[in-house]
Amino acid sequence: MLKIAIYGKGGIGKSTTAANLTAAMSVLNCRVMQIGCDPKADSTLLLTGGSPIPSVLNVLREKRNRVEMDDIVFRGEGNCWCLEAGGPKPGVGCAGRGIITTFETLKSLNVYETIRPDVVLFDVLGDVVCGGFSTPIRQGYAQHVAIVTSGEKMSLYAARNIATAVREFAPMGGASLIGLIANQKGFTGEQEKIRELAQELELPILSWIPRCELVQQAEEQSRTVVSAYPDSEQAKVYLGLAQTLLRLGEASQS
Ligand code: ADP
Ligand code: MG
Repeated sequence: MLKIAIYGKGGIGKSTTAANLTAAMSVLNCRVMQIGCDPKADSTLLLTGGSPIPSVLNVLREKRNRVEMDDIVFRGEGNCWCLEAGGPKPGVGCAGRGIITTFETLKSLNVYETIRPDVVLFDVLGDVVCGGFSTPIRQGYAQHVAIVTSGEKMSLYAARNIATAVREFAPMGGASLIGLIANQKGFTGEQEKIRELAQELELPILSWIPRCELVQQAEEQSRTVVSAYPDSEQAKVYLGLAQTLLRLGEASQS
């Protein structure tokens, strides 16, 4: 089982990229589970046809210890399974706590053993890498971390913080950084800025994702580009990134 966490600043395109990757890996015959680790709980909307699924935290609040796997894990389009950690009510409690609770619940319900995914993708908000939001990169959860960034200042800033946090935990059995995913806004000089950060962090750029209107057009239909426009250049970019990640995973496991 290959477990990859996709981190990045809020609004940068993590969920869009993650859902397209899930769809692409599914096309490549993998069983994929996507776990949204953002209090917004909207990570998997493009895979569920736009229907929000109940978050683990909300289900736990309602059903306490009577929660079953089917209450929190939902089939998405293709060969995929969707989960949303969720978050506390705004202003109350710690947002990262939802992630810790979700991981504990996954374990107690033997979700991985039952579904046996080939790939698990965690879609994690990385504006603050507090205890909760760093859970996926600590021992035993994700093996690899990829950071989504554009060339905008705040996005690069968040990427640098995330990289620092990941490298902090790596010696203790935490996840390793595999590279940046450049989700471009498309302004002049942007690629140079992303290249500079990659060089500073000594990381490869795993993919250059262009800004593309098909993303919005697919989103209007609550679908991924990979599913709605499978023959487009944009879909090929996501498929290429999926192949890169699968290859890295194979290499690290052999
Ligand atoms: P995050 O999960 O990081 O908060 P989202 O994936 O929800 O961000 O993306 C925010 C918005 O950016 C979405 O409305 C999405 O349509 C748009 N978006 C993301 N990537 C691209 C892209 N490559 N081209 C065009 N629009 C994009
Ligand atoms: Mg998101």
